[in-house]
Amino acid sequence: RAPLQPDTVAQAVAAAHRHFAGLREGKNADYIPYLASVPSDLYGVVAVAPDGGVAKAGDVGYAFSIQSICKVFNMALVLESIGPEALLRRVGSEATGLPFNSVMALEMHRGKPQNPLVNAGAIATVSLVPAASTEERWSRILGNMSRCAGRQLDVNDQVYHSEMDTNQRNRGIAWLLRAREFLEGDPDATVDLYTRACSVAVTTQDLGMMMGTLVRGGVNPATGERVFKTENVPRILSVMATAGLYDSTGSWMFRVGVPAKSGVGGGIIAGMPGRLALAAFSPPLDDFGNSVRAQAAIGEIAAATALNLFED
Ligand code: GLU
Repeated sequence: RAPLQPDTVAQAVAAAHRHFAGLREGKNADYIPYLASVPSDLYGVVAVAPDGGVAKAGDVGYAFSIQSICKVFNMALVLESIGPEALLRRVGSEATGLPFNSVMALEMHRGKPQNPLVNAGAIATVSLVPAASTEERWSRILGNMSRCAGRQLDVNDQVYHSEMDTNQRNRGIAWLLRAREFLEGDPDATVDLYTRACSVAVTTQDLGMMMGTLVRGGVNPATGERVFKTENVPRILSVMATAGLYDSTGSWMFRVGVPAKSGVGGGIIAGMPGRLALAAFSPPLDDFGNSVRAQAAIGEIAAATALNLFED
């Protein structure tokens, strides 16, 4: 692979923003009522190189809820804290082939959640963050995401309350996990923490830096702080490649070939280790829950910058 020039990246980011700003497909998520109210034409694109170089276009400073993208960083925190074997005993690393909030996926595997990036696995993962109290657990979760972003992050309270009012399904999942002993501690307190984590406000720039921390082998490219051991990065990216874009991950990997994770707030992160991190945001989603413009932007930039893992 030819080394990447900053100009190539900047041009690809600008072009992807230009090409897809007019794309009108998809619809904001509305099962969390707040998400339906976010302006649908917001659209930001960011690339972060391992050396900290940043290219950006569009609404990159608009703060939105991270949603499922937090699952990647919570998985990383648990890998760091208890190691891969202990995580894999409680949460698998397989695709479900079912929607992200599937209860059937749990029942099919004797209650064991299939991976940390679907709701069941993500809720179980939150319960595995070692801490003496719920608030200590929260401060570790938020601190970890903040170190990856390179600035102090916080919860968007409106999103949090909107989601707490409507997350009965996640509470049901947590109690099922508890019944089969795949969840530590109190299920309701765990769902509360999981929901706070999903409600953290990030900008596209933050997401770029968070993914940048992964492609830089666990070191934040802007602050130079080591957040994860380098050996944990491939473990995280492998699950992103298997389950990052809900039940359309296979077709994403077929088309684009880059590990990615999306959230129903409209964000997507993607990247290739040692080469480039990408983040894009736009609220309208396809039927699987993936931002339409963010997928288009990342797909195009990935092709222009040779990020496909399966290509020479
Ligand atoms: N907080 C959302 C939920 O649990 C996250 C969904 C997502 O982004 O996939 O439903």
